Amino acid sequence: MAKPKLALYWAASCGGCDVAVLDTNEKILDIASIVDIVFWPIALDFKYHHVEAMEDKSIDLCLFNGAIRNSEQEKIAKLLRDKSKVMVAFGACACFGGIPALGNFTNRAEIFERAYIEAPSNDNSEGTFPQTSTKVPEGELELPEFFDTVLTLAQVVDVEYYIPGCPPPVDIILKVVDLFATGQLPPVGSVIASEKTLCDECDRIKEEKKITKIWRPHEIIPDPEKCLLEQGIICCGPATRGGCGQRCIKANMPCRGCFGPPPGIVDQGAALVSTIASIYQGDSEEEIARMVEEVVDPAGMFYRFGLADSMLKRKRMKPAEGRA
Ligand code: SF4
Ligand code: SF4
Ligand code: SF4
Repeated sequence: MAKPKLALYWAASCGGCDVAVLDTNEKILDIASIVDIVFWPIALDFKYHHVEAMEDKSIDLCLFNGAIRNSEQEKIAKLLRDKSKVMVAFGACACFGGIPALGNFTNRAEIFERAYIEAPSNDNSEGTFPQTSTKVPEGELELPEFFDTVLTLAQVVDVEYYIPGCPPPVDIILKVVDLFATGQLPPVGSVIASEKTLCDECDRIKEEKKITKIWRPHEIIPDPEKCLLEQGIICCGPATRGGCGQRCIKANMPCRGCFGPPPGIVDQGAALVSTIASIYQGDSEEEIARMVEEVVDPAGMFYRFGLADSMLKRKRMKPAEGRA
């Protein structure tokens, strides 16, 4: 009997999600024994035209990591959607926009200015920016269009399942492959993780204490038995879906929210702001102002992984010409 076909792709991604698949170590051989990997740019030399030549819905499962930042990624997302029966947003960037979507606090013009003019390592006295089309003696060179706004995968194509995490943990990857191979995938639309918050799964001691100061993780060594948030270190556990195995908490580091919002929370960042505000003991305007100052980079803290998928989606700015 023919084996099910699996495709893996990276869009606006750091490569860590693909490495997480490789982190299954020798189990990658088990995966390869139950599925045919038909497309995986990081590991195998398939070309886009090989995918274009496949029949529609001939790929059984596509694990798509990375957000959508440019027109090439959008085009391949649509191509893989056409060719795949089951499309999975794999990792925080595909699910929520992730780290690339922090670019939604600015826009293409500002990013290009920084990257190609202001960065001290540049030697670009003519102020040249990347063009989508450039004529050279040999013909015309094309580059994908860099979008103003980073999108989640589901903002571009229909998605059946979501596997959160930066990157997804190996045990969840193996579980998904097993569920897929045995035909036991959950209902369409499911997030394959826990239905609880990370705090619900965390076994640290919680004393319902108020805090009077916010510390950055490098400023104190926290008690490894007690809730980090109650020790004044911002931990995103109250507004983050569980299921990661408390990876950061067990390393005595705060959660940064890579599993996205738990069920029932629409905007992870807003929920976090609300949580911090509710446990901060500040009686005067000065104390509250000091606390606000103590949260270094609040946008990056509260929307580190979820800006594209949040109610904000992006900072309101004049859009660049072309695709917004
Ligand atoms: S989710 Fe994390 S590991 Fe995966 S591509 Fe995004 S930044 Fe990299
Ligand atoms: S805030 Fe963080 S440390 Fe505290 S209970 Fe929740 S996950 Fe655990
Ligand atoms: S503790 Fe938070 S940031 Fe760390 S892996 Fe789990 S969900 Fe992600």
